[in-house]
Amino acid sequence: MRLVLLGAPGSGKGTQAKLLASEFGLMHVAPGDIFRAEIRSGTELGRLVESILARGELVDDATTVRVIDTRLSSEEAKHGFVLDGFPRTISQAEALDRILSGRGESLDLAVGLEVDEDAILRRALSRRVCGVCGKPYNIVMQPPKVAGKCDECGGDLTTRKDDLEETVRDRLAVYREFTEPLLAYYGEKGLLEVTDGEGQVDEVFQRVVEALRKRNLLE
Ligand code: AMP
Repeated sequence: MRLVLLGAPGSGKGTQAKLLASEFGLMHVAPGDIFRAEIRSGTELGRLVESILARGELVDDATTVRVIDTRLSSEEAKHGFVLDGFPRTISQAEALDRILSGRGESLDLAVGLEVDEDAILRRALSRRVCGVCGKPYNIVMQPPKVAGKCDECGGDLTTRKDDLEETVRDRLAVYREFTEPLLAYYGEKGLLEVTDGEGQVDEVFQRVVEALRKRNLLE
């Protein structure tokens, strides 16, 4: 199964993508996670993208497509994948089509998660991430066992620079301008299912699974 998850930043794409990956044995590919790992490791790519992420802007298409192409070329991706945060522009979507068709493959479905912008702001402002291993937390919905510390590695929890209120607003504006048009792009190809992304994680997951079933993607 080859899937794309679409939704505004903070719509819960990452959480749903991880659940889909573990339930259906798919490779989870998230450029945001890849970029943040590169920044933590201090690589050349990390240094290149650090200030772009902090401002909530998009990394250029060529760099992003190269990163994704490498991941999708891996052995693991042959069993299927779920893309979380890619594509984010029409040009990236066209690049994805070319990458897949070059291998005789195609996308099965894009699932859009619909979440109200106020809910997104509330979620982003309660999000924390471990500064050491990158594990995400929500201090309201999924708090750590010890306040401010990661359950996995004991690292200090921090607020992502791009989760500061001004930046979240900027990222929502970037989403509306560049990413929202992808709903029409996939809709016109008959490859889109939009589901309600509000509510508990499990409820949303059931809706996503229902969308896959409706498209005969599940046995
Ligand atoms: P995310 O974790 O998906 O919210 O992504 C965090 C940040 O990484 C975004 O605000 C962008 O700066 C960058 N990023 C992630 N995915 C992309 C993409 N497909 N194209 C360009 N930049 C991206």
